[in-house]
Amino acid sequence: MILTQERGPLDLTSAELAEWLAERNIPKYRAKQIFQGFYKTLAADYDGISVLPKALREELTNIAPIFTPVIVRELRSSDNRTMKLLLRLRDGRLIETALMLYPPSQYGRGRATVCVSTQAGCAFGCTFCATGQMGFDRHLTAGEIVAQIIIFARMLRHEPWKYPAAMGFPAGEIDHITNIVLMGMGEPLHNYTHSLQALHIINDPEGFHLGARHMTVSTVGVIPGIERLAKEPLQVNLAISLHAPNNAMRIKTMPVARKWRMDELMTACRAYIQSTGRQVTFEYVLLAGINDAKEHAIELASRLQGLKQFAHVNLIPVNATSAEYRPPNGADIAAFRAILTKAGVSNSVRAERGDDIAASCGQLRTRETALRQS
Ligand code: SF4
Repeated sequence: MILTQERGPLDLTSAELAEWLAERNIPKYRAKQIFQGFYKTLAADYDGISVLPKALREELTNIAPIFTPVIVRELRSSDNRTMKLLLRLRDGRLIETALMLYPPSQYGRGRATVCVSTQAGCAFGCTFCATGQMGFDRHLTAGEIVAQIIIFARMLRHEPWKYPAAMGFPAGEIDHITNIVLMGMGEPLHNYTHSLQALHIINDPEGFHLGARHMTVSTVGVIPGIERLAKEPLQVNLAISLHAPNNAMRIKTMPVARKWRMDELMTACRAYIQSTGRQVTFEYVLLAGINDAKEHAIELASRLQGLKQFAHVNLIPVNATSAEYRPPNGADIAAFRAILTKAGVSNSVRAERGDDIAASCGQLRTRETALRQS
């Protein structure tokens, strides 16, 4: 096995790393130490893995250097619960990644969720998404996807997030990543191989060991990818960015609906549910005056009713920083929800957050690029 810039040590599972080291006559127990150094100690380089002899550290630094993306810009929301990073990759391309912190609530324990990018730019051109307006640059490697999680894990380890007592829960702190969502820049199922490899690395029991149930793949509806995901042994969560109750409306904001129509998408979701027995989350960005009327809620409910308890709708009022769209008011959101609830469709509203740091994917990179060009 040859390691290259495109396939470095962070692109390997523990078994692959052991194989690569064995080819160089480096004993198996060293593989375990190195993998644990990356994902348990969270070492930034081989010198941070102190159990390794100095000569081996030097050898590995030469033959298998670790490249971690460089933090170009770091923004924190005013409530200190959302952090966004602009990262520069080895070829100079910029990507965004975000950490969202949630205190314990009636829904469960506190969470630290990383919203991970899987591509630089995106080929799918959704009109409400800043990344979609950039066009596609390239797929990220598995290592570049993994690195986003590791960067935030190091930050939290170094400086745990402290939350105050609230809603009957005592004050506490979170010092590790609890969830990841492949929902940043890019379409993960368009970069299937590297996205899944990254999830396997993060799930690896020898290292980070984040449970598959704490990982979510979010797609605009790449049907071949959904079919492939249904057969994966790794039981991650699936979220579909639906955003419209019918195909004619969906096409207006999501060009992908021309290629994979909504009825075909629903068939793929039904097959996925049948094969995995798992619930699918349908993300629905609420755009005031466009897809938030009562008739849209009725149509959405009737489309999802057949999936019964296997469908959950996550309503997301569009980010207020969006140039062309505005979020509905609270009463319209409540009316939309009431229709879904009455029809027996499970639903929730994602609390808007991070407006003051442009948390929607692609906005930070767009600003940075504009600044550089001005
Ligand atoms: S919403 Fe996702 S798939 Fe659509 S353009 Fe943005 S990054 Fe791409």
